[in-house]
Amino acid sequence: MRVIDLLNSDRPTLSFEVFPPKTQDKFENVIHAAYEIGHLHPDFMSVTYGAGGGRSRYTVEMVDQLQNELNIPVLSHLTCVSSTRDQVKEVLEKLKEKKIENILALRGDIPEDGGVSEYQHASDLIEEIRSSGDFCIGAACYPEGHPESSDKNEDLKYLKEKVDAGVDFLTTQMFFQNDLFYRFLYRIREIGIEVPVCAGIMPVTSSRQLKRIGGMSGAFMPQNFIAMVDRFGGSADAMKQAGVQYAAQQIIDLLANGVKHIHVYTMNRPDIAAAILDNLSEIWKYEISRSTE
Ligand SMILES: Cc1cc2nc3c(=O)[nH]c(=O)nc-3n(C[C@H](O)[C@H](O)[C@H](O)COP(=O)(O)OP(=O)(O)OC[C@H]3O[C@@H](n4cnc5c(N)ncnc54)[C@H](O)[C@@H]3O)c2cc1C
Repeated sequence: MRVIDLLNSDRPTLSFEVFPPKTQDKFENVIHAAYEIGHLHPDFMSVTYGAGGGRSRYTVEMVDQLQNELNIPVLSHLTCVSSTRDQVKEVLEKLKEKKIENILALRGDIPEDGGVSEYQHASDLIEEIRSSGDFCIGAACYPEGHPESSDKNEDLKYLKEKVDAGVDFLTTQMFFQNDLFYRFLYRIREIGIEVPVCAGIMPVTSSRQLKRIGGMSGAFMPQNFIAMVDRFGGSADAMKQAGVQYAAQQIIDLLANGVKHIHVYTMNRPDIAAAILDNLSEIWKYEISRSTE
């Protein structure tokens, strides 16, 4: 099933992201965790792609297994900046062969040595995918602007170009303050970007994880979020509970403000995905019943 058909239906959607292992010996553990996450019945799942690294090798394999085993739509991430055109075409052929129809098309991070790429931007990849088959294509967007971008208006202009190149839906970078997302949504609608947007929520459940992702994403951390990590970061259990609550509160606020599509970065943790769902159980049921009235 195509992700865009789910996003265009009246129902709210909840999707879970997982990432593949770096090496073959970790594959069984990772796929097992991904199955557990899939058994929580998200509307769809997504599997990341390690730009040029070992992880890229296992993305298609994981997507294929999850789709067949769980019978839910799966979105295969694909990056281009560290790949040749032939490598990208090879992956696209594999996806077609395995009847995988959903792709999140990304540029990927530019390698430290700068690299030399046949693709400059995600929009180049989107054109390549469009000309290669009948795929449902998603792309990334950044409520706080992409970290490389010094000018937010310019970033939005490029986002519009990217969507116009043939994007069916967008998924956001993680954010920890919902107002930033609401402002972003307003601004993209104003410039004519009309595709559905999935709001990316990251449950932060350890202070170590926070340091890693904070640096990578450049996401703004509001004072109440920092206070939470400062206070509870010393206890794994307390931090997990607080981080899940924070993410669940963000999701409740999004739903209360009419946002229908929530994407959770699960970090391959079934316990965390399940804890988020526990916090939302009645709310989600209510949202589904409202959407079918
Ligand atoms: C939801 C989500 C999922 C992700 N999944 C993965 C993953 O699986 N694997 C992975 O390696 N990384 C992943 N990333 C990270 C992503 O690869 C990086 O953020 C990367 O730096 C940018 O990718 P992009 O597709 O957004 O690039 P682009 O859309 O190409 O944008 C990158 C930068 O280039 C600028 N730009 C775009 N078009 C032009 C143009 N025509 N001229 C000049 N400048 C331009 C933009 O303003 C922006 O600053 C993900 C990010 C998100 C938000």
